[in-house]
Amino acid sequence: MATIVWIENELRLADHAALHRAASLGEPVLPVFVMDDDTRSSGSGARSAFGDWADGAASRWWLHHSLVAFRAALAGHGIPLVVRRGPAARVLSEVARESGARRVYWNARYEPSRHARDLAVAAALRAEGIEVRLFAGALLHDPDGVRTESGTPFLVFTPFWKRLERELAVPAPLPEPEFGRAGRPTRVPDTVDVESLGLLPKIDWTGGIAAAWTPGERGARARLEAALRDVISRYGDRRNRPDLDGTSRLSPHLHFGEISPRQVWTAAREAVPEEADPFLRQLAWREFAAHLLRHHPELPVRPLRPAFESFPWSDDSALFDRWTRGLTGFPIVDAGMRELWHTGWMHNRVRMVVASFLTKDLLIPWTRGAEWFRDTLVDADLANNVFGWQWTAGCGADAQPFFRVFNPVLQGTRYDPDGAYVRRWVPELALLPTKVLHEPWRASAADLRAAGVAPGVTYPAPMVDHDRARNRALAAYASINVA
Ligand SMILES: Cc1cc2nc3c(=O)[nH]c(=O)nc-3n(C[C@H](O)[C@H](O)[C@H](O)COP(=O)(O)OP(=O)(O)OC[C@H]3O[C@@H](n4cnc5c(N)ncnc54)[C@H](O)[C@@H]3O)c2cc1C
Repeated sequence: MATIVWIENELRLADHAALHRAASLGEPVLPVFVMDDDTRSSGSGARSAFGDWADGAASRWWLHHSLVAFRAALAGHGIPLVVRRGPAARVLSEVARESGARRVYWNARYEPSRHARDLAVAAALRAEGIEVRLFAGALLHDPDGVRTESGTPFLVFTPFWKRLERELAVPAPLPEPEFGRAGRPTRVPDTVDVESLGLLPKIDWTGGIAAAWTPGERGARARLEAALRDVISRYGDRRNRPDLDGTSRLSPHLHFGEISPRQVWTAAREAVPEEADPFLRQLAWREFAAHLLRHHPELPVRPLRPAFESFPWSDDSALFDRWTRGLTGFPIVDAGMRELWHTGWMHNRVRMVVASFLTKDLLIPWTRGAEWFRDTLVDADLANNVFGWQWTAGCGADAQPFFRVFNPVLQGTRYDPDGAYVRRWVPELALLPTKVLHEPWRASAADLRAAGVAPGVTYPAPMVDHDRARNRALAAYASINVA
């Protein structure tokens, strides 16, 4: 009797608890990917009541390639991947009937609508007499199991981190399942091609993304190995520098479950035991974001701090458009937005800078920025994205205070001191001297001429006066009376 393993964003063989358990039963395993348009629409942007979102365009590109890689990895073990489109409960029930399977296993998901959907699917399958089991694996720890001394969910990161680091042991990752004994299912239901899911864009704009990334478990392992070799031991010193390869770039691989956080955590601890903490702390931020979303499912649409409900945002589509296109006139902001557009990723420090610029210098609601990130990031992740935006806007948990408004010039000179990052992504400024690169409006006429920069023509003048914008933001903040 085959066991169905329902796959969503857990596109790996190693440390996959549901696959591992299914294979260990000694019977055939049938992995099934369901393209469920209710939770993962093909781009309609449909939202659930909690504001969860469908995959954006960059994520759909990644999903396509990750599914192809996963299918090939399974095929290497003689195991088929069944791909179907439709509501998950119906598809899984049909595949169970067609294959004769009486068990459906999967790894638990924690986003609010997916969690609710999973409970409904489990109930529907159980009502048909099918055994359903859910396993952990998307996070280091079950978010329901991590509590403060008084038994409540955490709202502040540092005590959360201390609890994780000092008191909770991360379970050892599981090896790849051994399918050998189990073999291929005798009755393999029909499958559609990954290609037919329509995940790739009709007009191909993905060249820059394809050049930057290798979706799939092998690509994820290669990134981890590179990080263990070159990144993690120097992470504390280099993590804020967008001009250096100072971070792991594991985020899309983690989001799509091509590697598990437990694998990353364990490998980092083993490889650089003395120096892993600053890096592990970042993995703990991922955990914290998931924990918050689990306990505050309204986060994607509502500020955690209620006072921000009446914040006087000033939504202006023309300004928003300039921000999305990297034409604000602030080089570090424009470099980040263009890096995002070309590669589907942006350095964390620069994410904070561009988010601060949108919400504080332009006073545009954080939800619009989060939506743009959803569509363009290959690592777009509901919990991390909403958490990052609310944190920067000052309305989230343990947030950066609203009155701390990033100065894009100081951020640029501090974290891109030689200007290599700006020169790479804003090439029209590449020949400016470093001392004015982050504030080209201060360049002398001779410097501008020598660098071929014509302000307002080859590169835009700054779209706001930062000092004035900062005062406007502080006045808006004062108007909602938050301490
Ligand atoms: C406005 C804003 C939006 C963001 N949106 C997303 C998003 O949609 N998806 C996403 O994965 N991250 C998001 N982040 C967090 C962070 O920027 C990325 O996780 C990080 O840049 C990924 O690069 P990396 O893999 O090299 O990270 P590393 O520095 O190598 O860190 C390792 C891993 O830890 C996790 N991590 C690191 N920093 C954070 C953080 N601040 N919050 C939560 N998890 C973290 C990621 O999973 C990351 O892959 C956002 C941050 C901000 C400020």
